[in-house]
Amino acid sequence: MKTNDFKLLEERIRNAESCLFLTSAGMSADSGIPTFRDKEGYWRNFPVFKRLGLNAIDLANPHSFEVRPQYAWAFYEWRRRNAHQNRPHLGYHVVNRLIGEVFEKSFVHTTNTDGYHIISGLDESLVYEVHGSMWRLQCMRGYSCEYGVKPNTDVPLCDLDYETMIATNLPKCPHCGELLRPNILMFGDWGYVENEYQIRNYQAFVDDVGVPDLIFLIGSSSAVPTNDYLAVRFQSRGSFVVTINPDPSSTAVCKPNLFIQKRAKEAFEIIQRMVFGG
Ligand SMILES: [Zn+2]
Repeated sequence: MKTNDFKLLEERIRNAESCLFLTSAGMSADSGIPTFRDKEGYWRNFPVFKRLGLNAIDLANPHSFEVRPQYAWAFYEWRRRNAHQNRPHLGYHVVNRLIGEVFEKSFVHTTNTDGYHIISGLDESLVYEVHGSMWRLQCMRGYSCEYGVKPNTDVPLCDLDYETMIATNLPKCPHCGELLRPNILMFGDWGYVENEYQIRNYQAFVDDVGVPDLIFLIGSSSAVPTNDYLAVRFQSRGSFVVTINPDPSSTAVCKPNLFIQKRAKEAFEIIQRMVFGG
């Protein structure tokens, strides 16, 4: 495994025809999107939930939308507002340029739910948001309601009292009157409605390229190794894996061919200068 060898990275970028970007929380951390895998960060942002003893797992599950919808929605309304106040950083735009100008075929497979790849201008046909998106809603009744999945970018979507972290005016399903919830894959989530459009596009990309020449594994944490396992699988069939992550323990699940030990934004600033100049 090589580390911080940007010459090798440039050569691999220039010689690759196909590329798969696997992005996770560390990609958005530089845009000010907090990760809730880290308990300290969670309690710091949500002192009310700390007092109530509600951790992220207590809120981010469908049962919570049934028994304490005011708090469950408060958690997601807060995150929608936070994502709305922040912006995708330069790294997103460099990814979009690489996709548009350098690789013949490429695709983004992300575990992030902030919608930042699409917000940064990438066409939705090139993204699979595998854990869903906070910018889509579905009915609590899931597949048994005809509502399906609908985009919703309203900010604010409901009323939120930051002092009590109680949300009111919660969105209701126009078909059945049940509560609407974020189309995000939560813990213990059997009612999640899959995004068939994105799944089809991702599958078509994989069918088309077989094994991507190059894989970027960006900002993944070993706590949620969805993208790491995918990288391992393609690597065993010949993909060259570049991990971008400041944390050395991020190479535990997938041993990359090249480890760029940097934060996402800084790594892509360097890649931009290297590939596009200026
Ligand atoms: Zn419904």
